[in-house]
Amino acid sequence: MKFNIVIVGAGPAGMFSAYELIKKCPKLKILVIDKGKEVKKRICPMNETGKCCHCVPCHNMCGMGGAGTFSDGLLNLRPDIGGDLTEFTKNENRAWKLMDVVDKVFLRFGAPRKLFGILTPEIEALEQRAASVGIKFIRIKQRHIGSDNTPKIIQKFSQFLKKKNVKFLMEKEVTDLIVEGNKCRGVVLKSEQKIGSDFTLIAPGRVGISWVTKMIAKHKMKAEYLPIDVGVRVEVPAIIMGPVIEASRDPKFHIWTTRYGDFVRTFCTNHQGFVVKEHYDGFIGVNGHSLINKKSENTNFAFLVKVTLTEPFENTTLYGQSIAQMATLLGEGKPIIQRLGDMRRGRRSTFERLKRSIISPTLKDVTPGNIAMALPHRILTDIIEGLEKLNAVIPGVACDSTFLYAPEIKFYSMRINVKENMETDIRNLFAAGDGVGLSRGIVSAAATGVLAAQGILKS
Ligand SMILES: Cc1cc2nc3c(=O)[nH]c(=O)nc-3n(C[C@H](O)[C@H](O)[C@H](O)COP(=O)(O)OP(=O)(O)OC[C@H]3O[C@@H](n4cnc5c(N)ncnc54)[C@H](O)[C@@H]3O)c2cc1C
Repeated sequence: MKFNIVIVGAGPAGMFSAYELIKKCPKLKILVIDKGKEVKKRICPMNETGKCCHCVPCHNMCGMGGAGTFSDGLLNLRPDIGGDLTEFTKNENRAWKLMDVVDKVFLRFGAPRKLFGILTPEIEALEQRAASVGIKFIRIKQRHIGSDNTPKIIQKFSQFLKKKNVKFLMEKEVTDLIVEGNKCRGVVLKSEQKIGSDFTLIAPGRVGISWVTKMIAKHKMKAEYLPIDVGVRVEVPAIIMGPVIEASRDPKFHIWTTRYGDFVRTFCTNHQGFVVKEHYDGFIGVNGHSLINKKSENTNFAFLVKVTLTEPFENTTLYGQSIAQMATLLGEGKPIIQRLGDMRRGRRSTFERLKRSIISPTLKDVTPGNIAMALPHRILTDIIEGLEKLNAVIPGVACDSTFLYAPEIKFYSMRINVKENMETDIRNLFAAGDGVGLSRGIVSAAATGVLAAQGILKS
């Protein structure tokens, strides 16, 4: 088998790349390979049981549409969210144009027309309040597809590509790249079958991180460790967050702390939502979600400190894992919960003390404890300071009753070195998306896919 272009991964990066290629050059022979299933064969555990255990395998990250297929489908239409696209476009206009390109495709396949995050008097007031205490409020144009709609859009998108003669090879895993004389000539499947190609694009998403790490080592590709985000999930009464949520569905605040000069941010706000436990290999973590038919009286959001390591130890993934393992050990396999008031007083929380809060925790499978025993002092100091600053924008967020759950850690893959056209240092091998460290989100992954397609077309 020989194709002009083989794409590894049918997530947003892979699909948008195929779309751009076939649109510009309809005669190209393109093959997309994915180890997961077609949309209709993919089963979301939430749909089956009405419950989600939030373990990474159950999130069903593999298959047509990638990790986003069963997501909430929140499209962040801003080029510096989920990475910074201007690093590749070298030009802000081109980066904004890419947002339009991606957005139009989603609209074409059925995304709702309604936009969130456009400038309103409420948003302007929020921005002003934040700026007055040195916090940056990030205004983002957002489109919300919704979890019921994302699989339908992915289905239409893939049908369109198939009609345009893009071939899909599903439920087949790529295990290696064929590299000869520093030039990529195709891929090898698990079955040991070889597929030749003039150009290869790897877009394997986060589920493909360990495969990417292997490829980096085997083919001696240049790559670097990325910073990780370490912190807690904050839970407050929904009534406190109400006015902010009215202005912005998922408000993003960026804070630089005074003591350490670290970067802290809010992420993934779930209004009237639930904190959930996540299982990883060897440790647990927390996350949050909101449901359409079930509301809580609380709102949760991640509060994360960016951690970069330089020398002599750069491996941020191992560092994050050891923090998470420590927290898992202390919580006896359950997330640690602590009231902010107890944290301030340097004492552990107990079930008795949790009752002094004006809300009750939405995650019950927890160990009340002392997060200071698990997170490094610097991160803890950043979190307390950051919340106290944020209290000036969202009054009540840093009161004693606020719950903090740990550990919440966002791991990222190693970032493969790419040129402006998204070509790696192996000739004819291109890279895009989350799995190679070039994006963090549906729109940014899709945009890097478009850039890679444009790079391939130029080559
Ligand atoms: C539960 C959840 C909710 C999310 N919600 C949002 C949201 O609302 N908004 C947002 O912007 N982002 C969200 N994200 C993140 C978003 O889904 C990802 O950023 C995006 O899908 C990354 O796109 P990608 O194409 O790089 O990789 P992916 O979407 O992960 O796709 C990669 C594909 O490659 C395949 N693959 C991997 N390795 C191989 C191999 N060796 N051989 C063959 N195939 C392989 C995988 O099976 C997968 O289908 C969410 C993620 C999750 C898990």
